[in-house]
Amino acid sequence: MTTAQKAKAFCVFLLEVKMKLYGRICHDLNNITTEKLKASKPGVSNVQGKYICHQCGNIDQTLFFQYYCHHCNKETTYCRYCVNFGKAQSCKDIYIIESKRHQTDGKYRLDFELSEQQRIASENIQRAVLKYEHLLLHAVTGAGKTEMIFAGISAARQKGDNIAVVSPRVDVVKEVYLRLTNAFKDEQIDLMYEGQFAQYNSTFVVATVHQLMRYDGHFNVVIVDEVDAFPLEMDQQLMHTIQKASATSASHIYLTATPNKRLLSQFNHSQIIKLPARYHGHPLPIPEFQFNTIKETKLNPKLLKFLKQQIENERKTFVFFHDIRFMEKVFNIYRHYFSKIEYVSSIDSKRHEKVMRLRNNEIDIMFTTTILERGITLEKLDVVIVNTEKFNSSAIIQIAGRVGRKIAYPNGKVLCYHEGLTKHMMHAKNEIVKMNRLAFQKGWIT
Ligand SMILES: [Zn+2]
Ligand SMILES: [Zn+2]
Repeated sequence: MTTAQKAKAFCVFLLEVKMKLYGRICHDLNNITTEKLKASKPGVSNVQGKYICHQCGNIDQTLFFQYYCHHCNKETTYCRYCVNFGKAQSCKDIYIIESKRHQTDGKYRLDFELSEQQRIASENIQRAVLKYEHLLLHAVTGAGKTEMIFAGISAARQKGDNIAVVSPRVDVVKEVYLRLTNAFKDEQIDLMYEGQFAQYNSTFVVATVHQLMRYDGHFNVVIVDEVDAFPLEMDQQLMHTIQKASATSASHIYLTATPNKRLLSQFNHSQIIKLPARYHGHPLPIPEFQFNTIKETKLNPKLLKFLKQQIENERKTFVFFHDIRFMEKVFNIYRHYFSKIEYVSSIDSKRHEKVMRLRNNEIDIMFTTTILERGITLEKLDVVIVNTEKFNSSAIIQIAGRVGRKIAYPNGKVLCYHEGLTKHMMHAKNEIVKMNRLAFQKGWIT
C-alpha cells in the first residue's frame, strides 16, 4: 500500500469506528459520517408570536433572549435553557439526525430471584414496554426498583428499541449505570451527565434527564427513576424534554417513592402500580415525632444522649438539617464530643470524599442537608431530623427510607425532632403506615 492508500484506509477505519449520532441534534454536519440527516430547522422559531426552542422543546418565554448577531447582521433569539448543549438560536439551523434501531439478544444476568412484588412489577413494565404504554410505579424506598426494569429493558432491546434510563440526579445515574452494566454485560451502554459524554451509538443510554435534550424522536422506552428528585417547578420542562426525545411509539415508565399530585394526575388508575413492600420483606420504619428544640448556641442533652447511645450500640447516624449555616453551627458544638463525626452539604467541595469515607466506615455521625436523602445505603443506620416541621412530606419519606434497607439489619429508628406538628409530617407518617398495611394485606411483608 502506498502512503496515500494507507491514509485513505485509515480514514475509512475512522469513519467506521466513529461514534454515531443517531437520533441526535447536531450543530455541525462535519460531526456526522454515515448517518442520515432527517431534518434541519432554526434552533429557535416563532410560532404565532411565541418562541419555541427546537433543541430542548422549551416554550417558557422568559428563557428566550435576544442579541445582535454579527454573522447575520440582525437581531437573533436564543434559548437559555439548553445553552449548555450548544446555542440554539433563530438565525442558525440545527440538524436532526435520523434515528437508527439495532437489535441485540437483550441477555442479562440476575444473581437472585425476584420477590413476588418485584416479579409483578417486572411483568407490568415488560407489558407496557412492548405495547408502548405509560406506567407509574409508586414503589416504597428499598423496594428493589432497579431489578424490576431488567426484563422490560431486555424485551425492548430484543425488538431493537432504543432505551434511556434517566434520573434527575447524577449520583442516582452513576449507581444505576453500575448495576445495569453489571447485569447487561453484552450491551453497549452510554453513560451521560454533565462532563461525561456518550461513547457508543445511543441504543441504550443511562443519563441525567437534561441529557435527553441532545435527542429528537429517538427513544422507544424512557425509564425515569426518582422522578420526584426533580424540582417541582422544572417538572413541565422535564416532560417536554422526555417527549421530544421520544419516538412516535414510546413507553414512559416512571419510578418514584413519593409521586407528586401533578405526576399522579397524568396517569389513570390502571397505569399506577403500588409497590408497598421492601425487597427484604420487612416493614418500613415509622417516623417517631418528638418535641425538641435544637439551638445553634447550646448543647441539647436529648440529642447528645441519643448520639452517645448510637456509638455504644455501634449504629451509624445521619442528622438531617434544613439549613446549611445552622447545621454548621450546631456541628461546631457536637464535634467536641465525638471523634468520627462529619458534616456535608451540596456546597461542600469535599462532599464526594466525605461520602466515600462514610461508605468506608470512617464516619459514625454525619450531619447533613437533604443531599443524603437518597442514593446511599448504609448498614446499621438510624436517622434524626432536626426541625422536621421545615421538611415536606416527600423529604421525610425519603429520609425515613434510608433506614433498614440492608437485609441483615432491616430495622432502625427515624427520630423526628420538631417544634410543632405539620400537615406534611402527618402525611408522611400516614403514607408509611398505609404502605406497610397494604404490604401486610398482600402478604409481601411479615
Ligand atoms: Zn432550548
Ligand atoms: Zn446569526
